[in-house]
Amino acid sequence: MEIACLDLEGVLIPEIWINFAEHTGIDELRATTRDIPDYDVLMRQRLRILEQHKLGLPDIQEVIDGMGPLDGAREFIDWLRERFQVVILSDTFYEFAAPMMRQLGYPTLLCHKLSVDENGFVTNYHLRQKDPKRQSVKAFKSLNYRIIAAGDSYNDTTMLEEADRGILFRPPQNVIDEFPQYPVVTDYEEFRTAFIEASNRTF
Ligand SMILES: [Mg+2]
Repeated sequence: MEIACLDLEGVLIPEIWINFAEHTGIDELRATTRDIPDYDVLMRQRLRILEQHKLGLPDIQEVIDGMGPLDGAREFIDWLRERFQVVILSDTFYEFAAPMMRQLGYPTLLCHKLSVDENGFVTNYHLRQKDPKRQSVKAFKSLNYRIIAAGDSYNDTTMLEEADRGILFRPPQNVIDEFPQYPVVTDYEEFRTAFIEASNRTF
């Protein structure tokens, strides 16, 4: 039996922080795990910038509300869920992801949580656990599932390493160069083929 573990941002939906940076014109908010691999350093920086600019959760949610999934993402995940158990492993927060999950048909999502004060300002963030993507894959493996994992960025590489098979979807060149062991796909058609190839089953 197999579980498909999928990253969210950059794979099914656009990068939330990049969109928010473009919307607000705050260039510093463009940084993602592609630029700063240490997620804690990245999040502390983001919260500091939000505080400096007096931006709260409603401001971010307004931008997310206007974003849709990537073209073809809904059809892809529907296809995948007919063939595999699918779990999305993301470093985003439930507070951000909610409108997107509706548009993706509410797949299972394991991610993080924010603390927000009564004025809507984000006061802290809570990681579910350390190295959550790898730990989730490990846990599923302990339940005797075989794991095919797919992501686009640095924060996915420990999950890809832990999985039985890994796939990179539209990764930046530096990730391709550093992790040449994984097949690279650039559209959802190739993505479907890569999942079929990575599977132990015949379709
Ligand atoms: Mg990503």
